[in-house]
Formats: sequence, structure tokens, C-alpha cells
Amino acid sequence: MGSYLEINLDKIRQNVSTVSSICRRYGVTLYGVTKVFCADPRIVKSFLDGGVAGLADSRIENIIKLKELNTGLPLMLLRLSSQSEARDVVTLCDLSLNSEISTLKALDRAAREFDRVHETVIMVDLGDLREGVLPDKLFELIAEAVLFKNLRIIGLGTNAACFGGVIPTPENMGQLLNLKHQVERKFKLKLPFVSGGNSSALPLLQSGKMPAGINNFRVGEAIALGRNVIDRSPYPGTTQDTFVFKGEIVEYRDKPSVPIGDRGQNAFGETEEFPERGIIRRAIVAAGRQDLKPDGMMPADSLVSVLGGSSDHLILEIRGRKNRYKVGDFLEFYPNYGSLLALMTSPYIKKVYV
Ligand SMILES: *Cc1c(COP(=O)(O)O)cnc(C)c1O
Repeated sequence: MGSYLEINLDKIRQNVSTVSSICRRYGVTLYGVTKVFCADPRIVKSFLDGGVAGLADSRIENIIKLKELNTGLPLMLLRLSSQSEARDVVTLCDLSLNSEISTLKALDRAAREFDRVHETVIMVDLGDLREGVLPDKLFELIAEAVLFKNLRIIGLGTNAACFGGVIPTPENMGQLLNLKHQVERKFKLKLPFVSGGNSSALPLLQSGKMPAGINNFRVGEAIALGRNVIDRSPYPGTTQDTFVFKGEIVEYRDKPSVPIGDRGQNAFGETEEFPERGIIRRAIVAAGRQDLKPDGMMPADSLVSVLGGSSDHLILEIRGRKNRYKVGDFLEFYPNYGSLLALMTSPYIKKVYV
């Protein structure tokens, strides 16, 4: 079978349950984010069993998979809608996140074609500098968007700690609520949905300092990997060994620590430094950059460290007894979010559910 990814469905369910009870305590609806595992139906089932109020994904392909499960829960498109997919957005998604007037117009037109009213959340950029309209451009956008008959603006949302690493605080969350109140007053709208963000907003919520009125979270990493995404520490009440990669050793030999011969760039156009450390024991595992991110793999065995990887090989150093491992053994690793994205997406890596 080769190297594979072991997925612990029950541990994922427990993580969902921990996070959903925190959200419930503070009056926040939890939308489970399924993109990191490509909306795999068995993992989605664990999300449902753990108690989510909605499902959210960034890709239409995954939304189709979610739709086929007939969960009865609202489906949210996380990535800003693409104009070329407007028809799919209005027919497949219950709500979408948007920040561009021309896209809202395309959604309105598509919704009219199918004789529906599409619900949208307007994304506001509070400084992380990924998606969203800046606060001083919000009213201008809303003023135009309220005229679209087949669109209903149901709320505001924001995203943090994704591109700029900006942390949710009482100040920036308060700013979002402030904008909501201003929009409601100015445009005589009701905005019942205020989506305060992703996993990075959980610590603030749990500290009790999240301003009241932020009432939706879209959470992926904190439930999939049990991590506090602000510093990647284990999130209290969750487990981190939800996904375990088992990599098969195909070579196990003592070799020098420094390459022999004249050196240019490696296969990826990089020039690496190799400190002289004498002869070391090296293992090659059958999986590479096509399947994972070498620096995003944490070995379960503290005597194993990742040296790097090529397209199809993960190159490791093994300390300890000479016969600690042998060719054909499987080494265990905990993938980080970026590596998990790649492992779940790679068709070469088998998925085994426990
Ligand atoms: C991916 C994503 C999320 C989930 O982020 P996590 O850090 O995994 O919780 C939430 N909102 C948007 C818009 C996203 O793209």
C-alpha cells in the first residue's frame, strides 16, 4: 500500500465537540471548515457528530460533495465567489462571502436567473490584508449592493491571522460590530450574522473578552489539528494526533552529512547549507514534496529529524541505536496544516480511517 495517512475520526469528533461547546457557551454558531481535508465525507460525519451548526468550504468542488451528503445544514462558500462561478454559488451555496461590487452584481444576476434570493456576508479587512473591503470603503459598497433585488446582505465578516498574522482583539472585533451598527442605521438593514473569524478568534472568545454580538465562527485548524493557531500550541481540551502520516522506509544507511563533489542548485533551484557533522544515519521515506511539505512534518520519534525532501523522497536523520529501524518499517509523523492540505490532496497517499 505504501506510505499512508491515518485519520482518527473519533478524535476529530471530540475536538469538534470541545470547540462547539465553547462556542455554544458564548452564543456563537460554529461553522466547521472542511477545506483542509477536501470535504472528505467520513470526516464531515465526525464534524456532524461533534455538533456543528453549518459547513464551510473554499471550493465549489467540495461544496458539491457537501451538498450530496444532504446534512440539512447551511453550506457557506469561504473563498470570495468567482464571477465565472456565480451560477454555482447561488444554486449550491446557502451563503457566500464577498467583497467586490462586480461580483455581487454577477451573483444577483445569477440568482434572478434561478428565481432565488442569495444570502451574502460582506467581508471587511481589519488589517490582516487578505480579503475584505477596508472599513472606509464599506458604506460605498453597501450603498450599491442594497439595490440588488436578488441578493440579501445578512451580515459582516472578517478574517484574521491568515496572511498578515493579525490577532483578533476586543478592539478590532469591536470595530466590526461598530461597522455593523452603522450599516444597520444608515441603510435600514438588519444584519443578524457577524462572523468574527477563524480558529484564531477562539482564544479571545474563551477568555470572555470577545465583544457580545460576534455570533459566528468558521473553524478549521483548531478542530482538525487541535491547535491554537496564534502560536500553534495544543488547544486546551483537544487532541493533536488526529492525522498521523505513516511513511515507509525505502533506504536506511550511514552516509556523510555533507554532499560530496562540486555543488550547484538542488532540484528545486535552492542552494542549501550542509553543516559538517561527520557520518550520520539517514533514512529515506517514500513520499515527497508532491505529497507533503518536508518542514511541516513533525516526527513522532524524537530521535528522528527531517533533513529535507525531493519530489518523491523525504530524507531523515535517525539517531539512537543502529537497528532502531529497518527498510520496510513505517515512521510516524504529525503533519502541520500546510502538510495536511498536501497529504489530503495528493492522490498518491492512501487514506486509512480508524
Ligand atoms: C480557511 C478559512 C477559515 C478557517 O480557518 P482556520 O484557521 O483553519 O480555522 C475561515 N474563514 C475563511 C474565510 C477561510 O478561508
